[in-house]
Amino acid sequence: MHRFFKSNWLTGLVLISLWSCSLEDVAPHKQVVVVDPLPLAKEYYEAEKPIQVNSYFRIQAEHEVFPFWAGARSHADGRILIVPAHRKLQVRYEAGYLRRFVFELDASGQVLRGGMLELAGKDSQFLLQNEALLVEGFLAGVKSKELTYLWSDFVARPLDGTQADGRVVALQREGEGKSRLDSEALRTEFCIDWYWVYSFNGVVVFEVYSHTTCGSASCDSARTANAQDACLDDGTGGGGGGEKFQIIKDPSFKETTADCIYEKLLSINGFKDLASKFKGLGTEFDVLLKIGPTLKPTSNGQTSYKGPNQPIEITFNQDRINRSALEVARTIVHEMIHAEMFRALNTQGLADSDLSFKETFEEYTRQFFGDEDIHHSYMADYWVDKMADMLELIHPQLGKSSFEDHMNYSGGYPNGIPKDFYKAIAWEGLMDEDVRGWVNKDAIEKIEIIKHINNAIMGTKLCQIN
Ligand SMILES: [Zn+2]
Repeated sequence: MHRFFKSNWLTGLVLISLWSCSLEDVAPHKQVVVVDPLPLAKEYYEAEKPIQVNSYFRIQAEHEVFPFWAGARSHADGRILIVPAHRKLQVRYEAGYLRRFVFELDASGQVLRGGMLELAGKDSQFLLQNEALLVEGFLAGVKSKELTYLWSDFVARPLDGTQADGRVVALQREGEGKSRLDSEALRTEFCIDWYWVYSFNGVVVFEVYSHTTCGSASCDSARTANAQDACLDDGTGGGGGGEKFQIIKDPSFKETTADCIYEKLLSINGFKDLASKFKGLGTEFDVLLKIGPTLKPTSNGQTSYKGPNQPIEITFNQDRINRSALEVARTIVHEMIHAEMFRALNTQGLADSDLSFKETFEEYTRQFFGDEDIHHSYMADYWVDKMADMLELIHPQLGKSSFEDHMNYSGGYPNGIPKDFYKAIAWEGLMDEDVRGWVNKDAIEKIEIIKHINNAIMGTKLCQIN
């Protein structure tokens, strides 16, 4: 059984301490004829999946998991195929987590078994870097005591949850482990906490929080096979101690209405891209979100660049955070664009997109004075339309329909909310005589914009609405 494991012997040295059994008796690995496992695995999956769809298991509550074939990697001379297992859902992982479809083939190319393997523990970087080794180890019956393993069929029905220490694990919703899971709940704005529940001889020994899934209508509509858009959970996540660059929430920000709005924005295309510049590996800057006093008491927010290896700080003005949810969303987007500009200008290994931005930005630096005017002039020229798109997309989650009802009168928006409304909100914060894009607008345009902004003030201040 150890034949697959042997092929990665050298890369596996670092992991030796993890393994619970000795590797010295491993048989020499023989080269075999390499078969392309991808079509065989696809065939197997297509044949097996329909047989398994009738189950009431996590599939019902966590939405459909689908293989991202384009990301498939074959190992051990084509005897193992590892395929990313995606799903359409917003998820926050606490510890390291990795989910893969795994296929094991014999020398003749027959699929011996296939299923979904979930690994949890340590941090996601560790899991990603050692992915092949960990999967091969699992197939060979070798498990690390530091990780949690769950092997399921293609519809997330558990097949083997036995751990290195003999305990058996299940992934369960808090308090309702045994009950049928409610898929309908996930189709509305609704979050569920999931726990790894460990038992020994049928008795629950302990539980560990794993992740929170949040469903929403917007995820649901985007939930088509293989689509790479909003709410894609690619099956990797979590921190668990590894050094990660990311967006950090100060306690003053956590669990506030602004935080709730921020979390909703993360499901919006455009904003998601903006935030992802600070997430994961390979980025030098963190962003710190907090609520407190700003230098100028009239600012809605401020973004400060503190130098290399320091987080870029975004402070939302504590006196102005209680505006309508849509306006707060606008401020969050506005400040994140500031942060992104600081990142793109100051990052060391510049990507092509950063370089072209830098060139354009330097032109603005020649034309304008002071960080704020440079940033705002650039934002006015390049970001207003994109911001408007994001605000239009987030509005249904922030009380759009009741706002629409409220504004349904002549002089209001009897024909529905126009795009110009969202563009106008994007202009808030850019209406300055030092911003060229604003100065170039004529008086009528300016009055229109201000009129829309005055309407936006009347929207709900709540974030948790249905
Ligand atoms: Zn600004």
